[in-house]
Amino acid sequence: MLRAVDIITKKRDGGELSKEEIDFFVAGLTSGAIPDYQAAAWAMAVFFQGMTARETTHLTLAMAASGDMLDLSDTVALAVDKHSTGGVGDKVTLVVEPLVASCGVPVGKMSGRGLSFSGGTIDKLESIPGFRTALTTAEFKQQLRTIGVVLTGQSGNLAPADGKLYALRDVTGTVNSTPLIASSVMSKKIAGGAQAIVLDVKVGTGAFMPNLKEAAKLAEAMVAIARHAGRRAVAVISDMNQPLGHAVGNALEVREAIDTLHGGGPADLREHCLVIAAHLLVLAKHARTARAARAELVAALDGGRAWAKFLQLVGAQGGDVAVVEQPERLPTATLIEVVPAPRTGYLRRVDAREIGLSAVDLGAGRATKADAIDHAVGLVIHHKVGDRVKKGEPLFTVHANAADKRAAARARVLAAHVFSARPVKPLPLFYQTLKSH
Ligand code: URA
Repeated sequence: MLRAVDIITKKRDGGELSKEEIDFFVAGLTSGAIPDYQAAAWAMAVFFQGMTARETTHLTLAMAASGDMLDLSDTVALAVDKHSTGGVGDKVTLVVEPLVASCGVPVGKMSGRGLSFSGGTIDKLESIPGFRTALTTAEFKQQLRTIGVVLTGQSGNLAPADGKLYALRDVTGTVNSTPLIASSVMSKKIAGGAQAIVLDVKVGTGAFMPNLKEAAKLAEAMVAIARHAGRRAVAVISDMNQPLGHAVGNALEVREAIDTLHGGGPADLREHCLVIAAHLLVLAKHARTARAARAELVAALDGGRAWAKFLQLVGAQGGDVAVVEQPERLPTATLIEVVPAPRTGYLRRVDAREIGLSAVDLGAGRATKADAIDHAVGLVIHHKVGDRVKKGEPLFTVHANAADKRAAARARVLAAHVFSARPVKPLPLFYQTLKSH
């Protein structure tokens, strides 16, 4: 008879777990037969010993099958999805989903909330008054069929084993484990019915993967799982040493996404969205090459089609369309302070993690699960690594609702900017691309 303690000690001592042992563990985790302390001990053993590709695939498939498995074959010809491993100022989903849908490729996505320094799409969307982020499976499918775009929170019974394990990992120092992150992300994508997936693996201070070697390992692990599970995947490794775009904080990020959907927005954000969206159009077999996809996507962004699709999405999910049409009506902070550059020089560092944590302290994220979010607050970072900034020029803007928090953010974000007297090379947007096929 299988026993949880034997499975824990086998992994602790570096053994390879069988499919039966992993299935037993995931079933016990889901039903509650295996208590949290054993699950946490097991996660720590995996953290130190790692998992083979076979084990990681078994874990993923077992967690995907621990709840409902969405079948979208009656809804769309080929279900495509994207997933980011989490970053600071990452509002790519808000742009890419309506953009891709406006080209005729349906995309339905279940997104998450913020975690530590990294923001979450669902928190961002909830800054739009009335926007519903909890749809039933029937509503999800119906909306995907009718307007071709859905953005909702994760349904209650999708990969519940991951939900339980994730909550434990968050408080037991076991988040940063390649097999655990890979299986967590991929179990949700597989349970969500995705046939083809674009994975945006972030690397840098504002990501869970601190260096390229670790990020590449994670990307390879996820692509290998996709291959084993019969799904197609493209993983891009993208920079997260500095925030993506300028805005960090929920309503501020929605505003920046709106600018981008109008054909404007920060250059790095627009480019990032075009690259991810092009991979989606190719994976969906809508475009033959990324180049052809890009031409169509640029036309959709600049010609207003992507924006029209976003308005349809907001309306369909109960959001106040008038507010997104006049984004100055989105939640706004009471204390807005523009902080000038303290010296002239080239920016050597704009630390994404420090900026993300500072936004959380302002109230844009949660310190504990139960905390409410302040959608109005956050930061606008005006410059990128490599920019030459003159003393006195606006460096960043703090959007706060409390004077003490504003002062703390001012000091912390100022320290997150490091200057150099000599020219500095800008950071790349992407480092590597991996494919399952
Ligand atoms: N995102 C997830 O869904 N799971 C992880 O483990 C990390 C990031």
